[in-house]
Amino acid sequence: MFSMDQQLLIKLAQRNEDNLYRQRHLLQSPQSTHVQVNGKDCIAFCSNDYLGLASHPSVVASFRKGAETFGVGSGASHLVYGHSYEHQALEEELAVFTQRPRALLFSTGYMANLGTILALTGNKNDHIFEDRLNHASLIDGGVASKAKCSRYRHSDTADLLNRMKGVNGRKLIVTDGVFSMDGDLAVLPDLVNACQKEQGWLMVDDAHGFGVMGNNGGGLAEHFGLSIEELPILVGTLGKAFGTFGAFVAGSEALIETLIQYARTYVYTTALPPAVASATRASLKILQQETWRREKLASLIVRFRSGAETLGLELMKSTTPIQPILLYDDELAIKVGDRLRENGFLVGAIRRPTVPINSARLRITLSVKHTEEEIDALLDTLSGILTDLRGLVK
Ligand SMILES: *Cc1c(COP(=O)(O)O)cnc(C)c1O
Repeated sequence: MFSMDQQLLIKLAQRNEDNLYRQRHLLQSPQSTHVQVNGKDCIAFCSNDYLGLASHPSVVASFRKGAETFGVGSGASHLVYGHSYEHQALEEELAVFTQRPRALLFSTGYMANLGTILALTGNKNDHIFEDRLNHASLIDGGVASKAKCSRYRHSDTADLLNRMKGVNGRKLIVTDGVFSMDGDLAVLPDLVNACQKEQGWLMVDDAHGFGVMGNNGGGLAEHFGLSIEELPILVGTLGKAFGTFGAFVAGSEALIETLIQYARTYVYTTALPPAVASATRASLKILQQETWRREKLASLIVRFRSGAETLGLELMKSTTPIQPILLYDDELAIKVGDRLRENGFLVGAIRRPTVPINSARLRITLSVKHTEEEIDALLDTLSGILTDLRGLVK
């Protein structure tokens, strides 16, 4: 009989052999485009800090002031006197921002998704319909729920409609807004129509849309102009374009009260530090007012795509700062990621199960803090490495 550690080590060795082993690198600077990792200066193309707010001076100042005023730990859950003035103020500002009656803070996006799905689908007759490429936190909500869960083909509304037909009970349709590993947008107007036809409830996790999409950074709801009737359950996260930490759900009075009562990941956890809410209030202001950040990001995206096309790199259908380059092979993705790091560029090498089998890719993310020269340098280096490794580039 193998010991626990022996059994675990066998499994780990297999993962390594499959080129699926995950490793951490040591970040020794604030999150930004210029970072120090493992003692080496690098240019990062892997952060979700799209708008450069994670280390923005006024966000940092608000964080500091929040900590001086409210201390560090919130000390308790929201329902047991951990709900501070700063949490409340941020929730009210997020409600105005999303044009929904109310918003509710969660400690992380993972918890917001899990808790919301479970609070809305408790019954065996309920059905959850998920896009196949949804984020793991949404998939896990479907797996954990007592409801039946089915996954429709990516952005395929006809497949969704087929699956919804004749189903009784609640129908919760769940999708990423901007798909986190592909960068493409959910076909929200079509999903809205499908939901209206079949009386489904639409839940959109816009982790990568808020701050980046829409003229005022209101994400895909603003981009597509979707009202609360069309999109009743709107999730946003604060650790990406907002540059801070946490998440929120925006919607009706009834939805938010239901989550406060029944979302276990809301009820049974310590509230975010109030200073995180203070910092987020500062980043929300910047994100709404400084439209130049979105404009600059858009021009960098154009630059990246045209440069990549010229070099014959395989882009995906993305108009967002998430710009993957498809390599298909897990081992190749790792090798290219390592070589880029040796050359001072950090990108995510994404393999299964994060993405479907045979679709390994570099997940390159752009930030407003990048320069055109840095983008050109990344592309040149990448194309040199690929030519070297596989003669992939035309
Ligand atoms: C990052 C992410 C989450 C999780 O948010 P956290 O606040 O990091 O837990 C959820 N959904 C999507 C689509 C994400 O990209």
